[in-house]
Parts: sequence; structure tokens; C-alpha cells
Amino acid sequence: MNITDVKSDPSFTFDATAYDTIVVGAGFAGAVAARELAERKGSRVAVIERRPHIAGNTYDHLDKQGVLIHEYGPHIYHTVHERVHNYLSRFTEWRDYRHEVLAFIRGEYIPVPFNLNSIEMTYDAEKAAKLNDLLVSTFGIGTKVPIIDLRKQDEPLLKELAEYVYENVFLYYTQKQWDLTPEQIDPAVTARVPVLVDRDNRYFTDTFQGMPQDGYLSLFENLLDFPGIDVFVNLDARSLMSFEQSGDGESYQAILINGRRFEGTVIYTGALDDLTGEAFGLLPYRSIDFEYDYYDTKRVQPCGTVNFTVSEDYTRTTEYTWLTGQDIEVTTVAREYSSAFTDPATQTPYYPIFSGENQAYYDRYRDLFKDLPNFHPLGRLAEYRYYNMDQIVLRALELIDELV
Ligand SMILES: Cc1cc2nc3c(=O)[nH]c(=O)nc-3n(C[C@H](O)[C@H](O)[C@H](O)COP(=O)(O)OP(=O)(O)OC[C@H]3O[C@@H](n4cnc5c(N)ncnc54)[C@H](O)[C@@H]3O)c2cc1C
Repeated sequence: MNITDVKSDPSFTFDATAYDTIVVGAGFAGAVAARELAERKGSRVAVIERRPHIAGNTYDHLDKQGVLIHEYGPHIYHTVHERVHNYLSRFTEWRDYRHEVLAFIRGEYIPVPFNLNSIEMTYDAEKAAKLNDLLVSTFGIGTKVPIIDLRKQDEPLLKELAEYVYENVFLYYTQKQWDLTPEQIDPAVTARVPVLVDRDNRYFTDTFQGMPQDGYLSLFENLLDFPGIDVFVNLDARSLMSFEQSGDGESYQAILINGRRFEGTVIYTGALDDLTGEAFGLLPYRSIDFEYDYYDTKRVQPCGTVNFTVSEDYTRTTEYTWLTGQDIEVTTVAREYSSAFTDPATQTPYYPIFSGENQAYYDRYRDLFKDLPNFHPLGRLAEYRYYNMDQIVLRALELIDELV
């Protein structure tokens, strides 16, 4: 891979004339777009990344005790899209991993999403058998039943189950995650909390799931290793890129790189508010603070991720060796604290806060760029949307289908 660390070269200047495409951001959106344009169109692509590393939010590295961790939170690969899976399989082998999540509820580890096994661990044998029989006969084995449907049943036991799951699996976790009071929680979201009429403890049921055998960073090194792609890290696009305003000042009419018009393609995977100097203010996000516990023993958790749904001020903990399969005598567990995103200089925007109002707010930013046919916002930040990795890979592939 052809990579330049701009910080270590004081004489560095970016020469836009050497490229027909500039990709901002080296996460999945940017890296897949860059590779596809170079490989399918023969483009000369500059990938500009402001962090000191590639791989975006999936970046992994060894921590101080040699455990492979994910710097920006645990990333588990899963997809139903064969195209995505075949594509990524060109750049990595897969480790067979099925993610399980347990909720820690008053001293017990209960599988979530709540399923027939969870019911047997929660209620006495007689009540659990009755509940499970009722669920299977009413909804059928293998179904996913939103608690709103349980609440609508005449059978009081099913209503009771709905209330239990709401109170013990959903409510406090959601309050912590989004900093909401119970009254502020959107009833439509609550209604979708599922109970699985099944004994499958896997968190995801997608056809393809696993973890990159040698980690995400290695996958990205292979993805970006192609003639025509130059990667620049520690380079912030805002230091190069500006825009010419239209006459009415309502939108941009040209992209400038180092003050000169750039007529090539720009794939932009950062945040639009950030790029405009927050022209209309900061788009609302939740951020996460990670704190780590280091242990001198092989394993301390019963599975990869534990959700704290009725206690603690952190939302969940992840023990990375479960995910990566790393065979090592020590272990590291990350605790996640959800926080308000208020300072882009020190915090990472993680989860966009969905609401009609925030979407309209984002649309104001999007409108600024509407008259630039060569500017393509792509990815979780640029589109102000939560996407899983596979969805972003698919979006990148489809965008390049259009462009090629
Ligand atoms: C806590 C958490 C856990 C997740 N877990 C999973 C999971 O288990 N499975 C799953 O499928 N998905 C998961 N996701 C979603 C996943 O992180 C995203 O789908 C993925 O990161 C999207 O890739 P992207 O390229 O759009 O964004 P990113 O990976 O964020 O890449 C964008 C890049 O652009 C760079 N950038 C921004 N602005 C500039 C600029 N001005 N100049 C230069 N570079 C810039 C950023 O530094 C960043 O590296 C999770 C998300 C979060 C928040």
C-alpha cells in the first residue's frame, strides 16, 4: 500500500493535479470507493484521512498488554448480502465467530434478544414451560415478536412477559444510551423490542458472519493496496478543500483544492457540518467514552459482550479475545459510557440522533452541496445515518456502479 504520513514530512504539499479522484476518509465507505474506482475505472485516487491510521471506526490494534482491541468500539461483521461477502472475502479470510450478547440482570447472565432460553432462566420451570408453549402455539417457532404484539394478546402471561422485557432488557439501557427519561422514549421504538420464539442465542442471524482472520487493519491494507491509490494519513481535508458559493449564497458551485477548482470526482465520507465549518451548528450525535480493565487471566466474561440493562452507569462491556479469537494469557475488557457529543475537537461522533427535526437539520447541510455533480457524500457521517459495515460496503459498491 502506498501510504504517506503527512505529519512526518514537513515539506509535504498535496498536488491535486496528480489525481482525478479525491476520497476523503479511509473507513469502509472511502476505502471501497477508492479501490473500485482505481480497479474498475483506472482512476488515480488520493485517499485523505485525518486520523493517523486507515480503517475508520473499525481500526484495531494491540493494546498495552498485547490484546487486539477495536479502538472505536467492538465491530462484528455480519451480512445477508452475498455481493458484500464475496467482495470482502477478496481481502480477508474469515474467522468463524457467532456473536452472543448476555444481559446481566440481578446476578444472572440472560441471552438477548430475549428468547426461549432466557425465559427458562428467568421464571420457575412451570411458568417458563407455560410461557414457551404459549409463544410457540401463538406465533410459531422461529418468529421474532415485537413486545407491542405481546401486549395486545388476551393472555395475561404474555402481557406480563412484555412488561418484564421492557423493564429489564430495554428501558434502563436505552435511557443510558440516549440520555432519555422513560417519557421521552419513542413508543414506536419501544414497540419494536423483540422476543425471539427460538433457542438460537446468536445476536445476529445473518447468513454470513464472522471476523476478519487477521483483523480489520489488515483487511484495509489489502483493500487499499492497488496501483493508482495513494493514501495520506494525518491530513485533514478541511486544510485543502473549500467551496465557491453560488450567487445567492445558498449552495456551492465549485470545489476548490488549495484554492484551485477541482473538476474531478470527490467522494466525501466525513460529516457535512464539519466540512462547512458548522455553518448551521453541530449536528446532534451521541458519543462514547471507553474505559478499559486489564486482567492477568485468560477470560473474565461468559461471552463477547455483556449488556448492563438494570444496573451500572455504563451500557455494555466487551472482552475482545472472544471476538478476535486471540490466544493470549491476559485479557482486556472495554466499558462503554454513552455521552453527549459537544466537542468535535476531542470527541468522536458515533450515533446520529434520529428525529424528523434532526433530519431536516441535516437536509439543510445536504442542500448546500446539491449543485455539485462531482461531490458525492457517502457513509455514516456524510449521510447522517446509522449503517452497519456491510450496508456501507454495499452503498459504496452501488455508488461506483453508477459512476463507472
Ligand atoms: C460503537 C459502534 C459499534 C459498531 N459496531 C458495528 C458492528 O458490530 N457491526 C457493523 O456492521 N457495524 C458496526 N458499527 C457501524 C460501523 O462503524 C459503520 O458502518 C462504519 O464505520 C461506516 O464506515 P464509514 O466509512 O462510513 O465511516 P468511518 O469508519 O467513520 O470512516 C470515516 C472516516 O473519515 C475520516 N474523516 C472525517 N472527516 C475527515 C476530514 N475532514 N479529513 C480527512 N478524513 C476525515 C474519519 O477520520 C474516518 O476515518 C458500529 C458503529 C459504532 C458507532
